[in-house]
Amino acid sequence: MSDTKHAQFATQVIHAGEQKDPAYNAIMPPVVTASSFIKENIGAPQEFGYSRGENPTRHALESCLAELEGGAGAIACASGMAATASVMELLPRDAHVIVTASVYGGTFRLLEDCRSKTSGFTTSYVDLNDLTAVEAAIQDNTALIWIESPTNPLLKLVDMQSVAELAKQHQILTCVDNTFSSPWNQQPIKFGIDLVMHSTSKYVGGHSDLIGGAVVAATPELHKRLQYIAMAVGAIQGPFDSYLALRGLKTLDLRMQRQSSNAQTIAEHLEQHPAIEQVFYPGLPSHPQHALCKQQMKTGGAVVAIRLKGGLEEAKAVIGRLKYFVLADSLGGVESMINHAFTMSHGGMPVEEKYAVGITEGLLRLSVGAEAVEDLIAELDHALEAIST
Ligand code: PLP
Repeated sequence: MSDTKHAQFATQVIHAGEQKDPAYNAIMPPVVTASSFIKENIGAPQEFGYSRGENPTRHALESCLAELEGGAGAIACASGMAATASVMELLPRDAHVIVTASVYGGTFRLLEDCRSKTSGFTTSYVDLNDLTAVEAAIQDNTALIWIESPTNPLLKLVDMQSVAELAKQHQILTCVDNTFSSPWNQQPIKFGIDLVMHSTSKYVGGHSDLIGGAVVAATPELHKRLQYIAMAVGAIQGPFDSYLALRGLKTLDLRMQRQSSNAQTIAEHLEQHPAIEQVFYPGLPSHPQHALCKQQMKTGGAVVAIRLKGGLEEAKAVIGRLKYFVLADSLGGVESMINHAFTMSHGGMPVEEKYAVGITEGLLRLSVGAEAVEDLIAELDHALEAIST
């Protein structure tokens, strides 16, 4: 293991984990595509055997992510959803899961369309900041509290420490989907969380060129079980995508500094704009959980949600005038992206539920990229002229 544990994050992100190359001493761990590794003899000790179980490139990524999140170990998976599904494999049949209300649509689909049918899971969607409601939702078979903070797309925060304390009293596992923050912006294990899940397709990769996921475990026991699950179900990340994620991580600090500072500037600017009804951004003093943001996050992050004065037609008109903010399902790349949650990320959610959680036709999610903020503001101002005020 490297000795970067006490270094600053900007140093850790470049050097953390086991990134050695015993063959050529290459500065960047090579992409080892071998499915199998030759054995010296029957029973001889071997670090790598078959790549579904262990692969050197994947291992370099896993050890780096584990250190960045302050965990005991990590598994890198084929996608964020494969990572989430691997966490669900930790739970017994007929488990009850408490979930952040307005959770990411893919997590909702996995629980409601798959695990409820195949594993007998039941779920309760709860405002996790209402600890009385969380406590009331706990049943004898509650095995996991699934936390998303900030939430997609309205950027509500959850007080991770309070939820972790309550969960521990009841021997319930906690997992935070840390996709929106990356380990740069918050490290849930510090607040007593057991598991941290990432869609590395977003900020960890950072360049919109890979699908990947990861789970970091707080304890060696949980890590061992997750490794076993990843091997048993084969949810693993391939070597080339592991390499891309590790390569992306090297610039995470630089990217997140620029992108979150751009997002803060844009959020402050849009808050004053006459075509906007509301800006949702935890870095704004007007955000109801701004104090919690300062407590558990480094910055407000790089995602800003805006509610236009208007609905679908106004949203279409604004999007039609943008060129740097591309209309896309994803987020977290260096290029700015815009998402219409009502029809895109949350398109599969029943309309009444969308209205109930505040996802309306005029809501847009901005994933702020690393471009010059002046250019982004100029084009947003131009696009918002499409709305008559
Ligand atoms: N969690 C969140 C918050 C997401 O936004 C996404 C994808 O958009 C996922 C999980 C799933 O990740 P993936 O698309 O890599 O499977």
